[in-house]
Amino acid sequence: MSDYKKLINSPIQYVKGVGEKRTALFNKLGIYNVEDLIHYFPREYEDRRHIYNISQLSDGMVCCIKAPVLTVAAERRFKYNLAVYSLAIDDGTGSINVFWFSSPKYKRKFERGVEYIFYGKAVSRNGWLQFELIEAEAADKNTKTGKILPVYPLTKGINQTNLRSMIASVMDGIDFFEDFLPQEIVRKNNLMSYDKAMRCIHFPDDMDDFEKARRRFVFEELFVLQLSLNYMKDRRCRADGLIFTDISCGRAFVDSLPFELTGAQKRAIREICDDFKSGTPMNRLVQGDVGSGKTVVAACAMYITVCNGYQAALMAPTEILANQHYNTFKNLFGDTFKIALLTGSVSGKKKLLADIEAGEYDIVIGTHAIIEDNVNFKNLGFCVTDEQHRFGVSQRSKLSSKSQFCHVLVMSATPIPRTLALILYGDLDITIIDDKPAGRQDIDTFCVNDSIRGRAYNFVRKQLAEGRQAYVVCPLVEESESLDAVSSVQFAEKLQTQVFPEYKVGLLHGKMKAKEKDEVMMRFKDGEVNLLVATTVIEVGVDVPNANIMVIENAERFGLSQLHQLRGRVGRGDFKSYCVLITNSQNDATQQRMQTMTSTNDGFKISQKDLELRGCGEFFGTRQHGLPELKIANLFTDIDILKDAQMQCEELLTNNPHLYGPDCERLKERITHMFDKFDGADIFN
Ligand code: ADP
Ligand code: MG
Repeated sequence: MSDYKKLINSPIQYVKGVGEKRTALFNKLGIYNVEDLIHYFPREYEDRRHIYNISQLSDGMVCCIKAPVLTVAAERRFKYNLAVYSLAIDDGTGSINVFWFSSPKYKRKFERGVEYIFYGKAVSRNGWLQFELIEAEAADKNTKTGKILPVYPLTKGINQTNLRSMIASVMDGIDFFEDFLPQEIVRKNNLMSYDKAMRCIHFPDDMDDFEKARRRFVFEELFVLQLSLNYMKDRRCRADGLIFTDISCGRAFVDSLPFELTGAQKRAIREICDDFKSGTPMNRLVQGDVGSGKTVVAACAMYITVCNGYQAALMAPTEILANQHYNTFKNLFGDTFKIALLTGSVSGKKKLLADIEAGEYDIVIGTHAIIEDNVNFKNLGFCVTDEQHRFGVSQRSKLSSKSQFCHVLVMSATPIPRTLALILYGDLDITIIDDKPAGRQDIDTFCVNDSIRGRAYNFVRKQLAEGRQAYVVCPLVEESESLDAVSSVQFAEKLQTQVFPEYKVGLLHGKMKAKEKDEVMMRFKDGEVNLLVATTVIEVGVDVPNANIMVIENAERFGLSQLHQLRGRVGRGDFKSYCVLITNSQNDATQQRMQTMTSTNDGFKISQKDLELRGCGEFFGTRQHGLPELKIANLFTDIDILKDAQMQCEELLTNNPHLYGPDCERLKERITHMFDKFDGADIFN
């Protein structure tokens, strides 16, 4: 091993100032060696380069000022043991009051007449400018002023000063950080060198340097990730998959449908069939807006699977949806196949499980219950996950792991831009369903406030009178399912007795027993219940084409994608459909969401806007996509760098797919390391 490698790989406890106790703390942060430590990037920076005059301060400025102290610190105590300390300073250009909260350590420190450098924030209070202290140093012992200081995310037991000095000592101890990207790539993409970037990201001289350093690390993070994902996909293509020899059997199924498939549905089925024939395992994502008809695509693929002698399984995120799929499939397949429903609440499970294992059932439809350890298949050939965004990656892979060479399909109603899909679903092939069944009209969407709720209800009444049905999504109480359940009961009662006494109002909430939910859903589907009051349990998948109005209370409480999903419960038949969003909120972000909802029905545009408003982290939920946590890149704001990285990735894979040559040695190591995080496989063998 070269000296450099030894240095960079040396365990964290050998870094100056770390010691045994801190080693454990660092390990908790995922830092085991020097290399990990230098990749622990600052969260933000404190710009302490300039010392400002007091006369230059304005509200909100965060900066350093230098002045002698005029008064001793005065203490004022408030309720809840809160104390505020303050003292006056004057630097010749003006005087200002410096204050800080409950931190007695500064009380004694300041001596009258001595000059200090104060770092903090100017704040205007009742027209008076004051200075809220963050940190102070005696002017003649200054160590921090004149620099841009890194601010690291901390953990208990390691403070900012500790971390800064440890990292600084590592920087001093290593002459040159060796680049692991091939020089050609660095040059072509105009990247800062690894050595310079490493020093600049921790201790930048100016913000321009920092930006360049950051771009370099964002690029390398996304580049390595994208490259790794491509290798994963590539490896899958070399694995053995089940071959379904008879594909034409699907024709009979398609012919039996009461409608003509859309062009995009046909294309999706064709792509799936190609996978079935190919000899490599399918790993495919079908993206299609709500109501685009994904279920029947999955059904066709399952039909072909069973005709070829294998079992097929479908997993849905809610019991309501699993039930609905079960009924849909029974209708579609009649008595041709034996279909099992497997959810948490089905009875006679022991026998059911034994029968599934014995191959008595051709198709199994269910919830998470399907992936439990005690569920075994005789010969699972194909599995589908519906509404994949509701599942974690590990849950999805648990389903496919129930059979070795199984084909895997996941379905999603939240379309995302291609660039993002390439990295978030980088190991999947993607099929997009980009049209809708003929005759579908846009859902007219209105946003109203409380005061015209009465009129909204009248509108609902008119539709009910014409034989249609409606959903009303209840007001949310809090982040508590139980309380929501209680309030939904009262709400439904009120609608039944006071607003719609002439119609039958039904109720669906998460705390109801599965049987009760099922019953209400059936009665709604049969038209016996005219108006269904529901909590968000109906958010995904529910399909009742006769329902044409969706009223959403407290619309401000929902994210855009969720609103779009809820709205997607209507507009599933030939009837003109409507969505009424009720909210009193004037909040800017809420207004933007409502505006988006009322102006478009396009799921693609909506998810774009949702991404923009919420950022990637929230949009995708924590780690839900299964990628390792990104250290520095932000998939939304760094989209341009992502594009560069993807282009570079493609080019490298074309020119040097096996990463031959000494220039690529360390890059190869990086990718192998990345793979450890996914599945521990060695890709270059
Ligand atoms: P989603 O993509 O949201 O899962 P579904 O699969 O639930 O959508 O389909 C929505 C509705 O459209 C269902 O009632 C389904 O029977 C119907 N449907 C699907 N494909 C077609 C088609 N090609 N023509 C007419 N109706 C269709
Ligand atoms: Mg669906």
